Amino acid sequence: MAARRLPRFDHRACVSCAACAEDCPVSCIAMETAPGRGPHAKPRLSPASACVGCGACGRACPVSAVAMCDTDGEA
Ligand code: SF4
Ligand code: SF4
Repeated sequence: MAARRLPRFDHRACVSCAACAEDCPVSCIAMETAPGRGPHAKPRLSPASACVGCGACGRACPVSAVAMCDTDGEA
């Protein structure tokens, strides 16, 4: 499978604004809380297979908490 780029979310830098989720054209970012990650919802790919690697989430983020990373398509 061809490599593609997927967002990686820095949950420490993230301020839980949900701008990434709102701008995703395929609605594959879910805002969720998780044990040990504090009280605020953080973004998670849901599902990663739906992501088209467009980078809109990174451009939307006001605190540069999204990095586009190369993958082997298995993420
Ligand atoms: S790269 Fe594009 S498709 Fe993938 S999660 Fe970000 S906004 Fe959505
Ligand atoms: S846009 Fe950035 S700060 Fe806002 S929820 Fe997404 S990753 Fe967090």
